[in-house]
Amino acid sequence: MTNEIFNEVLSETEIAVRDTLRRFAEDVMRPIGKELDTMTPEEVIAKDSILWEAHSQYAELGFGMFTVDDSMDPVEAARLGALSSEMLGWGDAGLAISFGVSGMPVNLAQMSDNPALIEKFTSDKVGCWAITEPNHGSDLLDFGSKENDGKRKGDCVARRDGDHIVIRGQKSSWVSNGTIAEMAALYCAYEDDDGVQGGAVFVVPLDIDGVTRGKPTDKVGQRPLNQGEIFFDDVVIPLDHMIAGPDQYNAVIETTLTGANGSMGSLFCGLARAALEHAVDYAKERVQGGKPIIEHQAVKSRLFEMFRKVEAARALNLRVVTHNAINPRLELAIASKVTSTRTAMEVATEALSIYGGAGITKENPIEKLMRDASVSVIEDGENTLLGLIAADRL
Ligand SMILES: Cc1cc2nc3c(=O)[nH]c(=O)nc-3n(C[C@H](O)[C@H](O)[C@H](O)COP(=O)(O)OP(=O)(O)OC[C@H]3O[C@@H](n4cnc5c(N)ncnc54)[C@H](O)[C@@H]3O)c2cc1C
Repeated sequence: MTNEIFNEVLSETEIAVRDTLRRFAEDVMRPIGKELDTMTPEEVIAKDSILWEAHSQYAELGFGMFTVDDSMDPVEAARLGALSSEMLGWGDAGLAISFGVSGMPVNLAQMSDNPALIEKFTSDKVGCWAITEPNHGSDLLDFGSKENDGKRKGDCVARRDGDHIVIRGQKSSWVSNGTIAEMAALYCAYEDDDGVQGGAVFVVPLDIDGVTRGKPTDKVGQRPLNQGEIFFDDVVIPLDHMIAGPDQYNAVIETTLTGANGSMGSLFCGLARAALEHAVDYAKERVQGGKPIIEHQAVKSRLFEMFRKVEAARALNLRVVTHNAINPRLELAIASKVTSTRTAMEVATEALSIYGGAGITKENPIEKLMRDASVSVIEDGENTLLGLIAADRL
């Protein structure tokens, strides 16, 4: 079952992109994601790991979830972005996040309009977004709130020293691609002789002196996604690697969160749709009470509820990303992220129940989808906290 019920409203380009990514999601992401899910975090990132096969095959396709394409109409680009993210999330959420976040330093370099940075930070390298810290998770996403004036010292601080920046401290064990990234989009506190002036944004190569990594984080879901700490021990980068200073920090983080939450909204529609499709297929096969369980009215109505939620989340997400392509609003992106991740969790949980005992076995895909969805309600901001950020804008 493919559930492509909106075929007729897709353009030729959208159909081509969807079909290419569906093949990639089905033939490459799902089998590789399933295998990585059973490995230790160290095995996932080992030199001979199939993780690298997934990354290189994705790179060969030439898609980038967060890459900027100025030549395209913004609404058209947003629709394609949503479609792509949904297809990748349908394949494997952890791998999809790993591909997506990888492009963040490239985007920042492009924003700088500095040819040397554009040449240095390229999409053939693995990237990450290093913002949260051991003692500042939600605090760093809840930027600009009354309780958070951005002038906290932070666990990671960048300091200007002549025409250089010196970075000292660490980022949290949750940084996606944290222990494998070759470059970082670093968001941290910025200080001068008068103390911390607020936040700042940098692009940082991670193969330079003073950068070390933590142990890859072991976690319940999205296990193909590497996460881990990055330590900066007086790491020196040129001043031109600073993309935004304290004056522009809130605007950059607002833009980043708006883009990231919109993409998460699309991606987890994909996971929710995958869970629904598996449940429908299983309900057609599994016979109890003398007939396929889909013919029992109670099962049918549960499947309809799942379908209704998935389509509502997809419709909201498409509205949000196309609106935000013209007039970006963080509260809309948050509404989509929270709706999609909740939907993914609810639909995967109900799918597991429709599978009965078979749902909890490793033979079937549902228990992994449920674990992957459980992580999404915290990722890119815990949902309740995101709701508060959105409410401040109402
Ligand atoms: C899969 C995954 C991927 C991630 N990827 C990245 C990444 O790429 N880069 C990165 O830097 N980070 C990443 N993170 C970190 C993520 O952004 C944080 O985990 C998240 O923001 C929550 O921070 P925390 O874990 O420190 O929880 P805390 O901030 O400690 O929050 C704990 C609880 O307290 C609540 N809370 C906190 N503050 C408030 C408040 N002011 N008002 C009301 N309630 C509050 C929260 O809602 C939450 O329920 C990732 C996390 C996950 C799970």
